[in-house]
Amino acid sequence: MSTRQYTHFINGRFEREAASYVDRTSPASGELVARFASGQVADMDRAVAAARAAFDHGPWPQMSGMQRTEILNKFADLVEKNFDRLVRIEVEEVGKPIRFAKGDIAGCVGLIRYAASLAMQMSGTTYTNLGSNKTALLMREPVGVVALITPWNFPALILMQKVPFALAAGCAVVVKPSEFTSGSAFELAALATEAGVPDGVFNVVSGKGSVIGQSLTEHADVDFISFTGSTRIGQTVIEASAKHIVKTSLELGGKSANIVFADADLDAAVDGALMGVFFNNGECCVSGSRLFVQSSIADDFVRRVSERAALLKVGNPFDDDTDIGAMIDSKHLSKVMSLVDTGLTEGAKLLTGGNVVENSAGNFVQPTIFDHVTPSMTIFQEEIFGPVLSVTRFDTLDEVIELANNSIYGLSNYVWSKNIDTVMTISRRLKSGWVQANTIIDGAPQLPLTGVKGSGFGYEMGQAGFEEFTQIKTLFLHTGPREPVFAK
Ligand code: NAD
Repeated sequence: MSTRQYTHFINGRFEREAASYVDRTSPASGELVARFASGQVADMDRAVAAARAAFDHGPWPQMSGMQRTEILNKFADLVEKNFDRLVRIEVEEVGKPIRFAKGDIAGCVGLIRYAASLAMQMSGTTYTNLGSNKTALLMREPVGVVALITPWNFPALILMQKVPFALAAGCAVVVKPSEFTSGSAFELAALATEAGVPDGVFNVVSGKGSVIGQSLTEHADVDFISFTGSTRIGQTVIEASAKHIVKTSLELGGKSANIVFADADLDAAVDGALMGVFFNNGECCVSGSRLFVQSSIADDFVRRVSERAALLKVGNPFDDDTDIGAMIDSKHLSKVMSLVDTGLTEGAKLLTGGNVVENSAGNFVQPTIFDHVTPSMTIFQEEIFGPVLSVTRFDTLDEVIELANNSIYGLSNYVWSKNIDTVMTISRRLKSGWVQANTIIDGAPQLPLTGVKGSGFGYEMGQAGFEEFTQIKTLFLHTGPREPVFAK
C-alpha cells in the first residue's frame, strides 16, 4: 500500500486540498505510511456548520428508523468488503499485531449491525395515569450535533462504539480522531457516505487535539461531546463544555485489577493474566495491569505467568504469530520505560523484561513483570499503557477488595474463581463500571461500557450507549375543559 494522504472529510466529500499535513510514520518500521490534513479552527468550524445544517435541515433525523437501519446495514456490508484494507491501516498506523486488528474490524461490523437494529427501537413512554383528561408523552429525540473525540489505541473500534449509535438515533457527527491514527476514521466516513448516509451527517477533521479538539469542545453549535482518551484531557473537556453547558460523556483511563483466587481454573487464569496486560501491546484502557494473586498459589502462578511472558513474540505486527507490536511513538516508549525505571527504584522485583528491544527500527518493549508491588509504588497507581504488569499478593477477600479499589480509576476489574459466592460478593463491592469473571477484556455490542471515579461517566454501546445520543422531550397534554386557576 502506498502512502495514504487524507484531506478533511466534510459534507460528504474529501476536500480538494489541505493547507498542511501531519506525517504518520509506522511505529514498527519508521516508514512513512500516511499523511493527514493538519486542521485549523476554520476547518473545524466548516465541519460543525455542515453537521448543524444536516441535522437542522437535512433528511437524516426525519427518516424512519427502518430507513436508517437499512443504510447502517449497508455501511456494515461495506466495512466487511473493505476488511483487509481497514486491518492494514490499523496495523500500519497503530503498530498493533494483525490478529488483534482483525478482531477490531470484525468488532466494528458487529457494532454497526447492532446499532442499526436500535434505530428501529427508538421509543419513549406514555403516561395515562395522570387524570382522565391528562396524558404525557415522553418523546425520545436525537440529541443533535455530536462531537466525537477518539484516542489512538483502537482507532476504528472505539469510533464504531460511538458513530453508528449516534447515527441510529438520527444525530450528525463531527469526528476528531487521534493525530497518530486518523486513517480509519476517514475511510469509515467515506464508506458510510457510500452506503447512503447523507452529506454532512458524518464529518472528520484531523489535526492536533490542542487546536481542533479544543475548538470542537468549545463550539457553540455542538450539543453533545462524547470523548474517549486520557483522564487529564477529559478534565479539559469538562472545562470546555462548561462554556456553553454542553452534555458530555467521558471514557477515560484505567488501572484495572485482575484478581486470581486459589480455587480458580489456573490454566485459564494464567492465559487471562497474559491477555490482561499484553493484549494490544498493553495499550488498552481496560488492561488488567494490576494482577492480584492469592498467596497460597502465588509463587507457582507468578512463575508460570512470567515464564510464558518471556516466550511471547515481540516484533513485526504484520506477522500472524506476533503477540506484542510497537508502542505508538517514541515519546510514549520513553514514558513506559521511565515508569519501568521508577518501579525498579521504588523496590519492585523485576521478574522478566524491563528493557526495550534492541536493534530494531520500531518502538518495541519487552513484556515486563514486576512482583511484590505495593499500593504506595507509582507503578501500582499510574496507568502505564504498555506491556508492564505489576503483581501483588493477597490473603483474604476483604484485603483484595481494598487493594483493588485503591485507585483513582474505576473502569473495569476481573476476577477468577470457581466459587459463585466469591464472584458475586467481589463483583458487588468492586468500584468499577465493568466486572468480568473467569474471562477478561471480553465484550459484546449489547453490553454497555462505563467508568466511575477518574475513569469518567456516561455509557458507550448497548441500549444505554444508544440512549446517550438521545434526549427525552416531555409533552404534557391536556384535553377537554380545564379548571381555571385564577378566577375572574
Ligand atoms: P489523549 O487524551 O491524549 O487524546 C485523546 C484525544 O483527545 C485525541 O484525539 C487527542 O488529539 C484529543 N485531544 C488532545 N487534547 C485535546 C483538547 N485540549 N481538547 C480536546 N481534545 C483533545 O489520549 P490518547 O493518548 O490518545 O489515548 C490513551 C488514553 O485513552 C489512555 O488514558 C486510555 O486509558 C484512554 N482510553 C480510554 C478508553 C475507555 O473506553 N475508557 C478507551 C481507550 C483509551
